[in-house]
Amino acid sequence: MRPDAEEKPSAAPAPRLLKPADLPDNFTRSLYKIAPYRGCAHGCRYCDGRAERYYVEGDFERDVEVRRSIPERLERDLATVREAGMIGFGSGVTDPYQPLEKAELLTGRCAELLAAAPRALPAMVMTKSSLVRRDLPAWSRVNESSGFLLMVSLTSLDEELREAMEPGASSFAERLAALRAFKEAGCAVGVLAMPLLPGLSDGEDSIRALYAACAEIGVDFVMPGGLTLRPGRQKDFYLAKLGAFRPELVEPTVALFREDRPSGSPLRQAAAALFERLAPIRRDFGLPYLLPHAAFARFLPAHDALRLLYRDMIELYAERGTDTARLRASAERYDAWLVGLRRAFRRKRSLPADWLEERFDEASRSGELESLLDNPRLAAFTRGVLLEEARLDYGSLTLVEAPRAAARRGEPTEPLERA
Ligand code: SF4
Repeated sequence: MRPDAEEKPSAAPAPRLLKPADLPDNFTRSLYKIAPYRGCAHGCRYCDGRAERYYVEGDFERDVEVRRSIPERLERDLATVREAGMIGFGSGVTDPYQPLEKAELLTGRCAELLAAAPRALPAMVMTKSSLVRRDLPAWSRVNESSGFLLMVSLTSLDEELREAMEPGASSFAERLAALRAFKEAGCAVGVLAMPLLPGLSDGEDSIRALYAACAEIGVDFVMPGGLTLRPGRQKDFYLAKLGAFRPELVEPTVALFREDRPSGSPLRQAAAALFERLAPIRRDFGLPYLLPHAAFARFLPAHDALRLLYRDMIELYAERGTDTARLRASAERYDAWLVGLRRAFRRKRSLPADWLEERFDEASRSGELESLLDNPRLAAFTRGVLLEEARLDYGSLTLVEAPRAAARRGEPTEPLERA
């Protein structure tokens, strides 16, 4: 264990923890990021965090940096935070509920602080540990006030494989139980079915069994993905561990990654074959692969929810073979406009805390947003989303009236129109 480098005695105040990005992240939906640890004792054999580009010093699994000042810094920043947005705990290179958290309670204290904060901010946790259940009461309070999303990484139901490839993480059964507990508590929950490991967990039967378990719980989405191996430490480590577990898979895996792309991607045809194998499974279970619009529109300010919706639409339509050039151009203009607004807001501390929300509202009512989009079809669709509170159903790509709006009139939700 290593102490946090930022904790060395110094007269200067600790740096700001809640530093908002210019735009919420497509993948985690978060505007803020908090990482109470650096490195990860879950020790997944394929972990991207070992790659040189992340500059994690020492042994990735053993020399975990513990940032004990995080709860105090969060408490300090929550008193003055100006921008609404989701706080993300966890990423592909560290886990906020790794074993040290049991004693350190850093993520747990952050959950309590958020549950009690005067300004309600939504939160997202990404983990492979059932320890997150310890903090269910606090996260439920966060969910009630502003929204909470639990993303659990889960790629198979085979415990022997889990022990070999994710030795420090919770069992698959414990992770499923955690998903069920949060779902039953009314939180949004999703499964990151990645990385599906070549020859180990990327076969049709294994993926079907995983989807069936997720569907039974009623998760909100399952996001599948293949393995990436960046040349260097990450790839060398994985191949060595694979050799000890299933030596016959080393040669085909080396062949799949023989291009040594900096991104770690395998041969294009392998990625395409996995995508083809996934398509009928996804269709059969009908689970979206992205957090549905209705879920994140509830947590996020309208200006950020719209940004994420446009990005999701680009993916969803491109996947169906639709030309998305026009949509992409409008989304890029919207992003640039939103970044400009945010920066203006940050520069001028005298602006009221709800200035961004007010400015966005004015732009959507005055026609400014419509001319910015320069796409009448998208503008009409956007009006439905903003003014009628309609939500895009990611399966049918149909706009559906928000349950809240229908409930106000005591009517069932109805499809409105196609996007
Ligand atoms: S849980 Fe995530 S961060 Fe930790 S070792 Fe596994 S993949 Fe890496």
